[in-house]
Amino acid sequence: MIKKILIVFAFILVAGIGLLLVLARSHPDLSEYSDLAIPASAENAAAPIKIQFLGVSTILISDGKHSILTDGFFSRPGLWTVLFSDIGPDEARVRQSLAKAGIHKVDVIVPVHSHYDHAMDSPLVARLTGARLLGSETSLQIARGQGLSEAQMERVEPGKIYTVGDFKLQVLPSRHSPNPVSPGTLDHPLHVPASYKEYAMGQCYSVLIEHSGKRILIQGSAGFEPGVLKGVKADVVFLGIGALGKQTDEYRQRYWEEVVSTTQPSRIILIHWDDFWRPLSEPLLPLPPLMDDFGATMDFIRDHASKSGIDLRIPAGFQSFDPFFRPQE
Ligand SMILES: [Zn+2]
Repeated sequence: MIKKILIVFAFILVAGIGLLLVLARSHPDLSEYSDLAIPASAENAAAPIKIQFLGVSTILISDGKHSILTDGFFSRPGLWTVLFSDIGPDEARVRQSLAKAGIHKVDVIVPVHSHYDHAMDSPLVARLTGARLLGSETSLQIARGQGLSEAQMERVEPGKIYTVGDFKLQVLPSRHSPNPVSPGTLDHPLHVPASYKEYAMGQCYSVLIEHSGKRILIQGSAGFEPGVLKGVKADVVFLGIGALGKQTDEYRQRYWEEVVSTTQPSRIILIHWDDFWRPLSEPLLPLPPLMDDFGATMDFIRDHASKSGIDLRIPAGFQSFDPFFRPQE
C-alpha cells in the first residue's frame, strides 16, 4: 500500500515539474506586436545619439565619442541554473555579447539596482571596457567581491549631475516592482559564485540622461518613488515592464501616472520584457506566462499610449537606432 502511494506521489511530482518546465518555456507571440518594432529607417548611422537595447534593462547610449551603459547583464544563466546553483558572470558570454554589440570602450556603467539580472556582470563589463562603475553601495559590494579596483568604482549620489563628454547623467531614487526577492542591501563584498538570493536589491534608481537638449529617462524596474519625477521632463522613456502584467490595473495606472504622465515623453520604448533565462545568442522573447502576463501589460500600455498620442515601441535586441527618430508619415 505504502509503495503504491509513493509511486502515485512520485508520478504527480514528476508530472508537476514537467508541467512547470513547459509553462516556463512557453512564450507570448511577439509577432502580434510587429507594428511596434523600431523601423529600419531609425537605424540612422548619422544620428547624434544611438541606442542599443541588449535585454532586460541593459541599454547602451552612445554619441560616437562617449558611451553610457546601464547594468551590462549578458550572462543570462538558465532558470534551472539560477534556481539550483550558485551563479556568477560567464566571461565567455559577456565577451561574445560585447563583440556582437560592437562595444569596446564604455565610459560609465550604472546598475539600476543590484539583483543579479542587473548588477552581476557590471564589474566584469567595467573591467573589459575600462568603464567607471557608478552604483549604489550594494552594487559596489558586488564589484568588490569580483575584485574590481576602488579606482574604477564610485558610489552614486542621487540628484548629482555627472558629466560624461557631452552627456549629463543623473540618477534619481526609485523603487522596484512590488514584492521583490532579497530587498535588502549588502555591507560586505559578495564573492561569486553566489545564490541569486545573495544579490540583494540595494537602492533602485531611475536614470536620466541629457544630450543635445534632449532627455532620456530609463526606468529599469516597474516601480516608482511617489513624486520623485515631478518636474522632470523626458523626450523618450525606456519603460521597464517586468512583472507589470501580474499587478492590478490600479497599480499599472499609478505607475503610468508617476513615470509617463509626469515626464510627458513623445515616445516610450519598452524594456525588461524579455525572458532573461534565455541566452543572448537566441532572439529575445517575452517572459513566459508563469512569470508575467505580457498580454495584460501590452493591452494597458497600448491603450494608454494611444490615448495620450505617445509613440510606443518594442526594441529588438542589438538593433542600433536613433531614439528620437521620426515615425514615417
Ligand atoms: Zn530586480
